[in-house]
Parts: sequence; structure tokens; C-alpha cells
Amino acid sequence: MHLPKSETINSKYISLNIHSMSATSSATPYFQTMSAVPPEPTPSQAPPSLATPTREPEPTSTKPSDFPKVKLRLELRDLSHKSTDLFLKNFNSAKDFADLVDVVLKRLYTFANHDDPTTSLPMPSTTKIPGTRSVTLILRDMDGVAYTTGSDIDNDHKEIHLSLSYLNHVASAKAGYTARDEILGVVCHELVHCFQWNAKNTCNGGLIEGIADWVRLNAGFVPPHWKKEAGKSWDTGYQNTGYFLDWIEKTRGTGSVYVINQALCHQKYHEVTFWKDLFGQSVDDLWTEYTESLKKPKDSPDDPSLKMQVRIKKEVEGHS
Ligand SMILES: [Zn+2]
Repeated sequence: MHLPKSETINSKYISLNIHSMSATSSATPYFQTMSAVPPEPTPSQAPPSLATPTREPEPTSTKPSDFPKVKLRLELRDLSHKSTDLFLKNFNSAKDFADLVDVVLKRLYTFANHDDPTTSLPMPSTTKIPGTRSVTLILRDMDGVAYTTGSDIDNDHKEIHLSLSYLNHVASAKAGYTARDEILGVVCHELVHCFQWNAKNTCNGGLIEGIADWVRLNAGFVPPHWKKEAGKSWDTGYQNTGYFLDWIEKTRGTGSVYVINQALCHQKYHEVTFWKDLFGQSVDDLWTEYTESLKKPKDSPDDPSLKMQVRIKKEVEGHS
């Protein structure tokens, strides 16, 4: 059954919120990704001054001042590496870094038509945002692409480690896709890990990675190798799960990913109840519906006239 109503999701979310009012929120650590093994996560502190949940959340405008103030740092560990220069030429460390934080926070913590930047962006007063206080982008020579971790001192201070060797590799990427495009996309993905909830470290890793790539997808940093296709399962992660979440966002209502992320703040992750509480269906049923939708003609999958045209075309071709 289709439930393309954000109201439905909202009411589910509010009910979840009420159940979890006494739960302690914590900016639980998150790290990922490609190959380098990050250090063990450390316990975190509770986020600062979060709004008290209410039954009827009053939307507020989300000016940049509504988001947490985050100190951004850049650390270049090898100035002699040729990719360091490549990075500096393609990434305005002050402006681009701050802009990407804004891109990520808006997509994780507001309901919005992100395709239209002029849209006012309501943020329910119950919204909880992790208490991340700083993000340090560290460029160093290492295997893999990038990963995010809490710093040794305090998990509210995040580190994004980005591989210089990898940047060297993407410098000769495909035509029409630049090193700058890739840097923005990878940093965007890693920044999501700095600000997303992870169900007190119990969340399915595929969902964590899917949310990160959904933000990257929604923000338009799509690399040429991404394909909207059904992988082996919904939680394969990365763009596979990112496109699945994009479908949920489009069919179950704008703000679906917001609601998923908020639910990952309030409770531990139990796959059966998590999805049913939010969407009234199991994630496997949602996945099946999504994979079926990929088989339908593009643009108007449920348009009867289009179905008829396809049928006619098949019959004509069959008789030719
Ligand atoms: Zn990741």
C-alpha cells in the first residue's frame, strides 16, 4: 500500500518521540569507510541544550544560526605530496568546507524541498542534533579513500581522514567529472558521519552508509559510476541504499530520511520494529516495492495510458 504522506510519518515520529522522552541522547561515535581501520570509539558527551520534545512540534526557521557552531580545521600532513597542491587548488578550505556542513545539516535536520534553495526550511523544535563541536579534515597518504572518526581527546571532535593517494588517482578521472567534484562528494559523505545519529552504535552499517550517500545524492555530488539499480539487499550500503532512501523520500514523503535519522537518535536499532513504526511496513517489503518500481517504465510508472502504450508497442513488435 502506498502511504505518500509525510503526515503519517510525522505522527509516527511524534509517537516514537514520546516513548523515548526519558532516553538519554548521546553523540555516539561513528566511523567508516573504505579500508583504513579507525581507532576504537570513545564514549561521548550528551549534546548541549536540546529542545524539549512536545506533542505538537512548532516548526522554526532554520537560519544557519539554528545549527550548532562547529569549528572547522584543515591539517595537511604532507606538503610535498603532489595531491596536496591538487586539493588546495580544487577546494576552498574556508568556504567549501563551511558550505558542505550547511548542505549536510539542512538535509539531515530540516524538512525541505532541497531542490529549491529559496524554500524556507522548517525544523521541528524536537529536532535533536549531535553535539559535534569540531571537524578536522586531515589529508594524508593512506590506503583507501576516506574515513571519519572521533578524535582521541573527545568524540565530539571529529576527524575526516582523506587519502592523498586516492586524490592522485581521481585527478585523472573521467571527462566531465573533476577532482573538485570528487573532493566535494567525498567530504560531503564523510561530513554526514560527523553529524548523523547511529542508534547508540547499534545501527545497521548499510543504513549509515546509505544515509551518507543519500545526502551526497540529494546535494547533487553524483559520481559517474553510480547507478540507480537494486543491489543484493537494501542494506548493501552506499549509493545502493542511498537510491533506496531517495525512493522512500519521494514515495513516503519529504522528510522521511529526517525521520529515520531522528529515530536513530532515540533508540537502539531493531530492524523489525524500526521500519514498521516509521512506515507501517517492513524494510523488506519496502525494498521489494522499490525493486519492482525500477522495472517499470521511467517517468510515469503508474500511468495507465503509458502502460497501455507499452503494451501496444510490445504487441506491434510481436507481430512485426
Ligand atoms: Zn561512509
